[in-house]
Amino acid sequence: MARALLLGVEQTRVEEKTMATIIQYTDRQTPQNQYPLRIVSPRNSSRCCLTGMEDVGEALTEAPWVLQYRRCHQCGFAVRLVVRALPDAQAIASLQSSLKGASLAGLE
Ligand SMILES: [Zn+2]
Repeated sequence: MARALLLGVEQTRVEEKTMATIIQYTDRQTPQNQYPLRIVSPRNSSRCCLTGMEDVGEALTEAPWVLQYRRCHQCGFAVRLVVRALPDAQAIASLQSSLKGASLAGLE
């Protein structure tokens, strides 16, 4: 029983780290686009998805990512893509500081 409790805690931690999605993958319901509430998607993609994927809604910012839902207009298969990573302000400041030091050293 203690082990079951531990497993439950670990599972909760994993879920907390995982970004929430509105996509429900199932083959038991008809694919539906109820964005932004939910998207019911088939569990697997098909050949049509190679050319049929379209953006759903606007890109979303969930730091440190910019995300976009995409859905196949033929079969309804949906994914949430990471469009790009947001700039890391600390890393940029550190790089700028290093570059500034490097250019000053070059002048001396
Ligand atoms: Zn498809």
